[in-house]
Parts: sequence; structure tokens; C-alpha cells
Amino acid sequence: MMPLKTSMSLFNRLRFVLIETSRPGNIGAAARAMKTMGFSELVLVNPRVPNATLHQEAVAFASGAQDVLTAARIVGSIEEALAGCNFAAALSARLREFSPPVIAPRALAMQLAADAGLTAALVFGNERFGLPNGIVEKCNMLINIPANPDYSSLNLAQAVQVLAYECRVASAGDALPITDIGFQGELAGIGQIDGMYAHLEDALAAIDFLDPANPKKLMPRLKRLFSRTQLETEEVNILRGIAKQILQNRKK
Ligand code: SAH
Repeated sequence: MMPLKTSMSLFNRLRFVLIETSRPGNIGAAARAMKTMGFSELVLVNPRVPNATLHQEAVAFASGAQDVLTAARIVGSIEEALAGCNFAAALSARLREFSPPVIAPRALAMQLAADAGLTAALVFGNERFGLPNGIVEKCNMLINIPANPDYSSLNLAQAVQVLAYECRVASAGDALPITDIGFQGELAGIGQIDGMYAHLEDALAAIDFLDPANPKKLMPRLKRLFSRTQLETEEVNILRGIAKQILQNRKK
């Protein structure tokens, strides 16, 4: 069998492209940000410092991500950087009058993770000047990281970190280990939950919180509330216990 999942995984079809980066430290920090989230393809378009990946500041900021830094490709144009991609997203702190559709990092990450046919590039601008319009226009989307409107310009490598993180979370989907941590009881069945609603309804009527002649939207609202919580059997029993106690006390 072909390792289909691996070859289609977003980790193998997403590249990070940095345009005319001034500070080698930011290139190193970007490599580190990528590696911590499992990404490795870094492309540098005309970095301002020659041999930027060998620069001591880049090496220092990359820390344990030397492999990503060393493997970075240095190219002379955006066309070369995007070769082989069928989707590109421009990262910009500034919204422009004429631009591709603007979406948030999370929405983009979900789209990239969901569509295995996309080989994508995330394109980041220079520290001082951002991205020129000519490059933004080549991209399919403009991505803006929601930030303080009075100061929305993140450090370049930190912008890379936000995108790499969102793409990792979107790719992991429900495989995120967090769901396996801690106590998990048995989920209640639909029949158990229906029984609980009937019981609650009786109890709420008994204390005149619910008027059976004019119930309004109380039960639908409570059902909506509980339906968001994945009730466990134990919890259903507790809620029924409360309803039972209310009904007993009323009868006294
Ligand atoms: N002064 C520049 C900001 C450069 S910050 C400007 O006005 O555009 C360096 C790069 O980090 C930007 O080009 C962009 O790619 C990315 N970046 C920083 N903050 C961002 C934000 N809020 N949303 C999206 N990208 C951002």
C-alpha cells in the first residue's frame, strides 16, 4: 500500500517563503518556528545579507532548527519561490484597497489541511516594508493576523509562528492528544438524555419555573445547552437526581 496519508499531509505540501528579509536573526527564528510545528520547507527570496543562512545571527536564532535553516533555498524571484505550488497566500499586517480575498489564519489553515490537492506557499514580507503590491497580487489570498488595531505589525518570525501553529492544529484534527488526557466517563445514550429532559421538565413545572400552558422556549434552550456538552451517564444521573429531589420535596 502507498503511504497515502503521509504524502498528502500538509507538512509535506506547505512552504514558507520570506521576501527580502533584512535580519538574519529573523530567518533563523522563522526556521525554529517552523520546525517546532513540524514544517521544514523554507525559501528565501533575495535576503538582504549574502549567505544569510550561514550568518551567525541566523544560526543562533535557529537554535535546534539548523537542519531547516541549512536546507533553506535561496532564490532570486517570487516566481522561482512559488514554482511547483498551486496556491499562495500573502501575509500582510496592512489591508489594501485592491487585494485578493482576505481571510484569517485559522480559516486558511483549515482549507489547506482539508484540500490535499493544494501545494501551498505562505509568503511573508520584509521587516520594514512588508510585501509589495506586485507580490500580493500574485497570491490567491491575503492573510491578516487579527491583532491590536493600533499596533498590528508582528515580528516576522512571530507571524511565521502563528501560521505554522494554526496549520499544525488544523492538520492534527481530532487526533490532538489533548482529547486523550484525563478522566473520561461513558457517554450517555440518546434515550437516557431524553428521559432526563422529561424528568427535568416535570421538576421545573413543579416549582412553577415552567408553565405547561405556556412553556415558551425553555426546554429547546436547555436541550441546546446540553447538546453542546457531550453528557456522560454519570452526569445524566446527577441531573435526574436533582429533578427527583425537587419533585419529592414538592409533594411534602
Ligand atoms: N511594516 C510592515 C510590517 C512588516 S512585519 C508593513 O507595514 O507591512 C513583517 C511581515 O510579517 C509582514 O510583511 C507580514 O508578512 C508578517 N506580518 C506581521 N504582522 C502581521 C499581521 N498582523 N498579519 C499578517 N501578517 C503579518
